[in-house]
Amino acid sequence: MVSRVIPVDNFDLVIFGGTGDLARRKIFPGLYRRFLAGQMNVDSRIIGAARAKYSDDEFRAFIEAALVEFVAKDRQDPAQIAAFLARLHYVAVDAKEEGGWELLKSTLRQNVVRAFYFSVAPSIFPDLAERLHSHGITDAWSRIVVEKPFGRDLASARALNEVLAKYFTEAQIYRIDHYLGKETVQNLMAVRFANILFEPIWKAQYIDHVQITVGETVSVNGRGAYYDKSGAMRDMVQNHLMQLLCLIAMEPPYHFDPDAVRDEKVKVIRALQPVPPQNIVRGQYLAGNGEGGYLEHCEDANSKTESYIAMKVEIANWRWKGTPFYLRTGKRLRARSSEIAIHFKEPPHSIFDGEKGWKENVLVIRLQPNEGMNLMVMIKEPGPGGMRLMQVPLDMTFADALGVEAEDVPDAYERLIMDVIRGNQTLFMRGDEVEAAWAWTDPIINGWESRGDKPQGYDPGSSGPEDALMLMHRDGRRWREIK
Ligand code: NAD
Repeated sequence: MVSRVIPVDNFDLVIFGGTGDLARRKIFPGLYRRFLAGQMNVDSRIIGAARAKYSDDEFRAFIEAALVEFVAKDRQDPAQIAAFLARLHYVAVDAKEEGGWELLKSTLRQNVVRAFYFSVAPSIFPDLAERLHSHGITDAWSRIVVEKPFGRDLASARALNEVLAKYFTEAQIYRIDHYLGKETVQNLMAVRFANILFEPIWKAQYIDHVQITVGETVSVNGRGAYYDKSGAMRDMVQNHLMQLLCLIAMEPPYHFDPDAVRDEKVKVIRALQPVPPQNIVRGQYLAGNGEGGYLEHCEDANSKTESYIAMKVEIANWRWKGTPFYLRTGKRLRARSSEIAIHFKEPPHSIFDGEKGWKENVLVIRLQPNEGMNLMVMIKEPGPGGMRLMQVPLDMTFADALGVEAEDVPDAYERLIMDVIRGNQTLFMRGDEVEAAWAWTDPIINGWESRGDKPQGYDPGSSGPEDALMLMHRDGRRWREIK
């Protein structure tokens, strides 16, 4: 099945940080794929803006090399690449200096969508916003796209919101959390709100608990000193895992509309309970498998920053009272695997006396690898051996079910950029949402910092520290295997 491609309006998209890692690996390859799919209007233009002194042609050559490296070989059509590169321009600007801004202004066209992607370090977001404004480059229709991290605590997030609000309305600000651009994450909303099947049982009465896992195999080697300032809680939980939790836990919005959806997410975040220390396990990966451990990679032998965190989170509202959400994420784990698992309760009464094989229904939503869903159900074991039960998966791997090739599923970034051009903010975080998330996160981090808690070591290639297993065992539950 070929997905429908609806072209977006003609645009001028400025990528600040156009020579950076994110631009090379994700943004430009993604835009090329949208061009190839016919979604990008052929008159649209992309303007790289960064400090390097490139000509248009030098920048095109730089991006061509990135496309060759990061776009699948069978999508590299020389004629299409040439046509895409012809849509690129470059202007050298420094966010902290005056030069280049008037040239940028004169490069942009009137009467097309104007978007500015801040793919630079957050410390210069305010400078960019201020200069765009003072040089009269933005108007009421312009949009800015802001990369993560959005602050490192409530105070810094609030300060950043205040600076941006001086120059832009909330409707112009697109705060990216690329998890929200993933196909399966959006499918979570479709599954919940486009089917009658799940919603009646989507509550504490029927759901025993929820597990959210984002496992990574990579270490922080090479960027350890940078990572050490954030850690798994700031880098993953406050944003990505929180977004997943919100989509599972929120009430049905009255309409699939940006503010209606985001209103419901904020309500979930506000209902999150403080997490006591006994419900948090933090870890640091040890040396092994031929690589150094976290403490070597972060270049601080006394670091107390976590490369792994597991926690039990409770939501104090009518729907979820009594159903814990267990979250975990970490580096150097057994597998690169992200999933949400909804574990249902047992039926109120078993008619199958003496049946030992009963297992709970589990709805597993896989974000990676093999995006898809799996519903574990009980059936009768085939054969004449009497009424024995067994658990089988009703498997729906999207690529299989829809006949979509992996390369045809838009990457999160490209989908989100197209939403910016369309002016649809549903999959972007609102300012109050980010602040609410930090307001919940801050006391948890302050707690372990003031106690001086040190993370527990865990073996690379494992599923995390021992204590994380205990967090579940204590409640008579088990983590799903990371595989
Ligand atoms: P990078 O260091 O590779 O690139 C930074 C870019 O900013 C370069 O193009 C540089 O020329 C430009 N720049 C630096 N100072 C400037 C200034 N004063 N004026 C104008 N331009 C300036 O960084 P990156 O990895 O591409 O990350 C960019 C942003 O995206 C950061 O906010 C980062 O947190 C976020 N991010 C990156 C990734 C990733 O995978 N790389 C993932 C998620 C979020």
